[in-house]
Amino acid sequence: MNKDPSANIIIPSLPEEIKGLSEIALNLWWTWNPRGENLFRILNPYLWKESENNPIAVLKNLPKEYLESLTKDENFMKEYKYVYALFKDYMNDTNIYAKEKPLPIAYFCAEFGLHHTIPIYSGGLGILAGDILKESSDMNIPIVGIGFMYPHGYVKQVIGSDGWQHGTKEELQKDLAPIERVLDKNGNHFIIQVPFIDPPVYAAIWKVNVGKVSLYLLDTDIEQNDPWDREISYRLYTPDLQQRLRQQIVLGIGGYKVLKELGIEYSILHLNEGHPAFAIFERIRNFVEDENLTLDEAIEKVKRSSIFTTHTPLQAATDVYSFDMMSKYFQDYWQHLGMTKEQFLSFGINPDDPSGFNMTVFALRMCNYRNAVSKKHCETTKKIWKHVFEKENEKDVPVDYVTNGVHIPTWLDEELYDIYEEILGDRWLILQDNPDIWEKILDIDDKKLWEIKYKNKVRMINFIREKARKKWANEEADPSVIIAEGVMLDPDILTIGFARRMTSYKRPDLILYDLERLEKIINNESKPVQIIFAGKAHPADIPGKKIIQKIFKIAQDPKFKGRIVFIEDYGKLVARYLVKGVDLWLNTPKPPLEACGTSGMKASMNGVLHLSSNDGWWVEGYNGKNGWVFGQEPADDSKDAEELYNLLENEVIPLYYDRNSDGIPYKWIRKMKEAMISVSPRFSARRMMKDYLEKFYIPITKEITKKD
Ligand SMILES: *Cc1c(COP(=O)(O)O)cnc(C)c1O
Repeated sequence: MNKDPSANIIIPSLPEEIKGLSEIALNLWWTWNPRGENLFRILNPYLWKESENNPIAVLKNLPKEYLESLTKDENFMKEYKYVYALFKDYMNDTNIYAKEKPLPIAYFCAEFGLHHTIPIYSGGLGILAGDILKESSDMNIPIVGIGFMYPHGYVKQVIGSDGWQHGTKEELQKDLAPIERVLDKNGNHFIIQVPFIDPPVYAAIWKVNVGKVSLYLLDTDIEQNDPWDREISYRLYTPDLQQRLRQQIVLGIGGYKVLKELGIEYSILHLNEGHPAFAIFERIRNFVEDENLTLDEAIEKVKRSSIFTTHTPLQAATDVYSFDMMSKYFQDYWQHLGMTKEQFLSFGINPDDPSGFNMTVFALRMCNYRNAVSKKHCETTKKIWKHVFEKENEKDVPVDYVTNGVHIPTWLDEELYDIYEEILGDRWLILQDNPDIWEKILDIDDKKLWEIKYKNKVRMINFIREKARKKWANEEADPSVIIAEGVMLDPDILTIGFARRMTSYKRPDLILYDLERLEKIINNESKPVQIIFAGKAHPADIPGKKIIQKIFKIAQDPKFKGRIVFIEDYGKLVARYLVKGVDLWLNTPKPPLEACGTSGMKASMNGVLHLSSNDGWWVEGYNGKNGWVFGQEPADDSKDAEELYNLLENEVIPLYYDRNSDGIPYKWIRKMKEAMISVSPRFSARRMMKDYLEKFYIPITKEITKKD
């Protein structure tokens, strides 16, 4: 174990004049402030690219003399001072950008998608949690995050020449990630013991600075633990149920302990999905112990100060643990809670399927505030869980909704960012959720917008080619693999993007339903089309892996001329290029299985048009002018594919290729603007956080301050 408190000083040789670089590098603020990002890029553009945009790696690789010479570079110093001042100003701003300030919130989630240099997320849930922390920082909502450090991340996806997904370990390089050790009084890495779990499990604590918000991560990969316990945090969503239960114990109960030991006060508990729900038990136990409440009083107090957000539209997709397994870990614990075994387990019993302890049912029961993540998902949630509330009528099920949103500064293209400053004014970010300011988008010069669009497409294609080149150079991959991974893409062709988890209900292969018809569309002489696919399958999802293989084989087929491609290892970095680079964002889930979806929001904000089945957020987002909708409910692959092809052939493709003599598709651009205007304010993380404040955080604050 590292006993050196200076372990946190990541770049020891940084000259005094530019010491702030290390401070900025260790705060993710730079990732959503284009000027912050640019500061690291200009340090050394080549290292920037080679390190895949990792400022810590860049700073560590620059020789001391070079760093010294920077302090004499007038231009660099001017920019450095300016950015550092911006950063300080941001950090010192405490104004609440909402009507009222709530009491502090502890936000628990199994994954956080903040930046690709910390691979502790698998997909939408994590990205949402990351965006919530970023937006809370921007708005000065008092929140603290609790999550897990996964030293081996999710899966790094490598596709073989047979199209099969081989997961390899994604090692988190702790010394190159924007994380800090939390130290104890003696300068040692701070370690907690998870209460009352036998044999004992320990976790070391790391901290991520998300602007003004702190995120604490539990890491069991330390020498104090037995080998099996070390592996508790190895991997996100392990299919090994035993290990999964142990993860969730460490996250919920251990996470609660972290807050307590660090003296972090909070009043509101927010559980994002069921994984961290055991925090509820630990909170009850603490109220009984510290505040001398009776068990019933403590339960009541937890209920009226906790909120649970569900993201799952299927009962079968929730975590259920057998009573035997629960007893194995909790038999000491329920005694400390003053509960009998029956009482303890009863909190998680699903009346519809009483075979085990269901984490979602547990959270629904123990939090008086509950929400789904879109209007439509709310209806589904009421339907599938009404028996938990013993309600006949769905209307009476006490579940509300907050439709997800995305953090605009994270997802918006940098050049659009600059244009907004000019056209919407320098307060546009403060006013971002107000639809009234967005009409001004119409004033953006069409040619200028098209230029930006084209540049983003070229950047995306260059990025894809560079990935393919590396694969060719480093892995001696088969040429057909390199072609399938996108070296033949052409920026002048209408480009469709489909990037999301590769799993059956999302129907990644719907557009491949009729290959003959698709081939005609793709290879049309005057109006060709290309399709970019990306997405990982969960390692245990064999049908998902088969879909990838099917796509990959088609991508390798010369008939499609390199115009159907599959990009390896979808994650935040790839997503950033795709949501700005393609022309059309395709989304084909089987309704009602898409709880919300957020990638289409990111795309629409960047002027990428959304074509989606009528599910998730699109039910609220589609206005007849800002994209396209297709399909039926319940889904019917044959009819849906037919509708999809018809839409492409009769509307989408002709509109894209309808050019004036100057080569610009004015009607398409008008639709891009419509998407930007209608989606940006309503599906911003700002609007989402205001909803959380108004529906939950403020009412809970009032309830607590009234009764306590
Ligand atoms: C936004 C995002 C998601 C979630 O997108 P969906 O529309 O829900 O599929 C998943 N992964 C990454 C990397 C993202 O950026």
